[in-house]
Amino acid sequence: MNPHDGMYIDGAWRPAVGAGTIEVVNPADEQVIGTVPAGDARDVDAAVRAARTALPGWAATPPAERGKHIAALRDAMAARQDEIAATVTAELGSPKGFAQRVHTGLPIAVAGSYAELAASHPFEERIGSSTVLHEPVGVVAAITPWNYPLHQVVSKVAPALAAGCTVVLKPAEDTPLTAQLFAECVDAAGIPAGVFNLVTGLGPVAGQALAEHPGVDLVSFTGSTAVGKRIGAVAGGAVKRVALELGGKSANVILPGADLAEAVAANVADVCRNTGQSCNALTRTLVHADVYEEAVALAAAALADFAPGDPTQDGVRVGPLVNAKQHARVRGYIDKGIEEGARLVAGGATPPEGHDKGYYVTPTVFADVTPEMTIAQEEIFGPVLSFIKYEDEDEAARIANGTVYGLAAAVWAADKDEAAAFARRLDAGQVEINGGGFNILAPFGGYKESGVGRELGVHGLGEYLQTKSLQF
Ligand code: NAD
Repeated sequence: MNPHDGMYIDGAWRPAVGAGTIEVVNPADEQVIGTVPAGDARDVDAAVRAARTALPGWAATPPAERGKHIAALRDAMAARQDEIAATVTAELGSPKGFAQRVHTGLPIAVAGSYAELAASHPFEERIGSSTVLHEPVGVVAAITPWNYPLHQVVSKVAPALAAGCTVVLKPAEDTPLTAQLFAECVDAAGIPAGVFNLVTGLGPVAGQALAEHPGVDLVSFTGSTAVGKRIGAVAGGAVKRVALELGGKSANVILPGADLAEAVAANVADVCRNTGQSCNALTRTLVHADVYEEAVALAAAALADFAPGDPTQDGVRVGPLVNAKQHARVRGYIDKGIEEGARLVAGGATPPEGHDKGYYVTPTVFADVTPEMTIAQEEIFGPVLSFIKYEDEDEAARIANGTVYGLAAAVWAADKDEAAAFARRLDAGQVEINGGGFNILAPFGGYKESGVGRELGVHGLGEYLQTKSLQF
C-alpha cells in the first residue's frame, strides 16, 4: 500500500541514493504492507540543500501568504482524512475510530490553528525605542516518532512553515507511509519546492546525519529520552537550536474528596488510549490510603471495556502495540513489576486469547506499587497502570515529582480551585484539572528530562523564531 518508492525532495519524488529499504509491518497481523527507501547521508544532504535554497524565498513570503499555504495543506489533509486514518491503523495498529478522531482530526485542527496564527501573529513589535523582529530560525530538521505518525509531524512542520522556516522531515521507521501521504498533501497544497522535504530512513543513519548536518539550524526531535540526549549534545556542540519532546511518567493524583469513580474511569481510559503509547499517559495513580483498595477495584472493573482487538473493527478501543520490540519491552516491564513485588490486579504478560499473531498485550493494573519500583520510575509505553498509596498531600506531591520526568500530570479534587492549587506544586509541563481536556492552542512540553521547548499554539511558533532588535 505504499504510495511511493522514493523520497520527496525539492518538490519531486526521487529514488534514494542508497539501495536499502525498510519494510513496514502491520502490527495487528505481522504482515508486510509496504516498503520505503532507507535514505543515507547523501539523501539527507540533498534534502538539506533543497531546504537551504528554498529558505530565502519562503522567509520573505508575507506571513499571511504562508498562512494561506498552510490552510491549503490543512484542506489537502482533510480531503484525504479517511485514507490517512486507514494508513495509521495499518502501520501503527490504532483502532479506526481513534485514527479518525485523534490521529488525523487533531493534526488537521493543528494545521488550521497555524494557518490562522501565521496571519495574525505580530512578527514585529515595538519595545521602547526599539523594533523587535521575529525572524525564522532557518532550516529545520524534524525527527519524529511512530506513536502519533501525523500529529507529531504536523506539530513541527506547521509552526515551522508559519514562522518562515524550511523543513527536512525524517519520520519513524515504523510509520513512514503516513509521512509519505503527508508529503503528497504538501505537494497538493502547492507549497513551493524545497520548503518541505521528506527523507525516510533509519534513525542511526538518516536521523543522525540530519541532526549533525551543518546546513541545519534547528533540530526538533520527539522520541526517547536516550536518543534525545544524544541529539541535544550534538546540537549543543554545534550551537544549533534544539527542541526536545521526550518521555514521561505522568502522575494522576486523586485527592481526598474527589469523585473517585470518575477519576479512576478517566485514568483507565487515558492509559489505554493509543494502547498506552502516549508520552503524556497518566501511568501512575496516586490515591489516599483510605480509598486505595476501592480505587484499585474500580480500575480492575473498568478494564472490562478495554479488551484488545482487531483495530479495523467497530467498537475496539485497544489495538496491538506498534512492533515486536515494544511488545517484548512492555511484557518485560510487566514481569519486572511482579518480580519486584507489585500486586497484579488485572492483565499480565501473557498475550490475550485469540491473538496468536499480532503484538497484542492485555491492559494491566498493578497495586502495592512503591515509588522506587522500576514500573513506577521508567516509561513503559504500554497500557500498564500502577497504583501508589499516599498518606498526606505532601507525600503525594513528593511521589508525583519523584521521577526524572516532568511531562504531564492530572489532579482530581472536590473542586477545581483545590486541584489547581495542588497542580502548582507539580513539576510538569501540563496538568489536567478535574478531567480538563486537550487544548491545541496551549503549550505542550516537559519539565526536567521530559524535554526542552514547547509545541502547539503561539509557544510552538516561538520555537522556530529568532529575534533581532533594531535600536533607534
Ligand atoms: P527513538 O527515540 O529511537 O526514535 C524516535 C525517532 O528518532 C525516530 O524517527 C528514529 O528513527 C530517530 N532516531 C533514532 N536514533 C537516532 C539517532 N541516533 N539520531 C537521530 N535520530 C534517531 O524511539 P523508539 O525506539 O521509536 O521508541 C523507544 C521509546 O521511546 C519508547 O518505548 C518510548 O519510551 C519512547 N517514545 C517516546 C515518544 C514521545 O512521544 N515522547 C514517542 C515514541 C517513543
